[in-house]
Amino acid sequence: MNDNRLLVMDDDPEVAKFFAQVGEDLGYAVTRLDEPERFIQTVESVQPTVILLDLQIPGKDGIALLRDLAHSRVRPKVLIASGLDNRMVTTATELGLSMGVDIAGAFCKPIALDELELQLARLLVQRKIITADRLREGIIEGQLVVHYLPKATRRGPGRWVVDGAEALVRWEHPEYGLLYPGDFLHVAEDNGLIVELTDFVFRTALEQARIWKSKGLRMDLGLNLSAHFVADLGFPERMLALIAEHDLDPSSITLELKETTAVEDPELTLDVLARLRVKNVNLCLDDFGTGSSSLTHLYRMPFSEVKLDNTFTKDMGTREDARAFMEGLVYLAHKLKISTCAEGVEDEATLQMLEALGCDRVQGHFIGPAARARDVERTIAVWNADRAERAAG
Ligand code: C2E
Ligand code: CA
Ligand code: CA
Repeated sequence: MNDNRLLVMDDDPEVAKFFAQVGEDLGYAVTRLDEPERFIQTVESVQPTVILLDLQIPGKDGIALLRDLAHSRVRPKVLIASGLDNRMVTTATELGLSMGVDIAGAFCKPIALDELELQLARLLVQRKIITADRLREGIIEGQLVVHYLPKATRRGPGRWVVDGAEALVRWEHPEYGLLYPGDFLHVAEDNGLIVELTDFVFRTALEQARIWKSKGLRMDLGLNLSAHFVADLGFPERMLALIAEHDLDPSSITLELKETTAVEDPELTLDVLARLRVKNVNLCLDDFGTGSSSLTHLYRMPFSEVKLDNTFTKDMGTREDARAFMEGLVYLAHKLKISTCAEGVEDEATLQMLEALGCDRVQGHFIGPAARARDVERTIAVWNADRAERAAG
């Protein structure tokens, strides 16, 4: 599928043809539509990235179309075109924005070719090209940064205290802006750069944990571990040395492993993990429930924590079976003396359901999004004060 899809909604065939031609020349896959009745249906099937919307269409007004769009799941950028006067265009823009539609611009027809080109070119999604060389350069030039996702522990009824954070890597790319692991981690894994990347993330995060400790802030640190390291017999010693170098207690560190990671060579992995666990480093089985042999891992490997995947957390509000599933997982983990952490908690209702199930720890946007250390400190102060007040009153 073309990354750039333009829907032209205009009943004037000449105008629509002109708009479509300009779009195509810029590299858009263009769909033309002149019947407003089929607007939302077409939006849902084409999934346009940009819509050129004429406000004045016989049979239906453009505002009603904006409202339909606001209720749809598709989130295109909208350029409003109108033969009406400027004030009408401004009003429509404001209405659209207030409904949550992503209005990217507006203009009165007729529009000059170069003006339209400029508007449409600005909205082209850049295809991100991430090569190993470029990533290596990014690492060397210090473009990687670490964000911290707060983690709260249940300390009593209604009392969730943030006492930890998970380190998540980001790349401040000079052209593409802030990139997330989904954009570049696979490049690192496939090209051996995961060693340099992990070294950077671990050192940065451990240094941050040392700073937090020196400020008297109790912050356990979660670190994500790639498959590469659990097959490296020298890793436990290096990890422990790094923790000691930062004057931290191994029991304040949790290494997180996706269940898909742990499978390749179970014997070797068990050797590496057991040596870390014996030295009191916590081990967390991440994304639990998404892989296939997860139960066996929980049974055989020395995990101290299991992270319940956010797909189940998200469904808890609406699905009884998701709640039953979570309840079963928490029960099983506790029977195995493993603590539980739910990912992706986005509202109070979910937090309360998790508390009722006896879940021990939580993460998610409701507690706070991943952010730079400074911002996370502020989130934590607000959250902990607010929750302490609630628990007291
Ligand atoms: P993960 O370990 O499962 O991390 C959780 C992901 O969910 C993060 O995405 C986080 O920002 C996001 N998240 C947290 N709370 C919420 C919420 O309430 N709602 C929603 N919708 N999302 C939430 P992110 O940062 O894009 O990380 C993706 C994955 O990349 C991580 O998944 C982790 O496996 C991997 N990763 C990140 N940093 C590193 C690293 O330094 N090394 C390695 N090996 N992997 C890393
Ligand atoms: Ca993780
Ligand atoms: Ca996860």
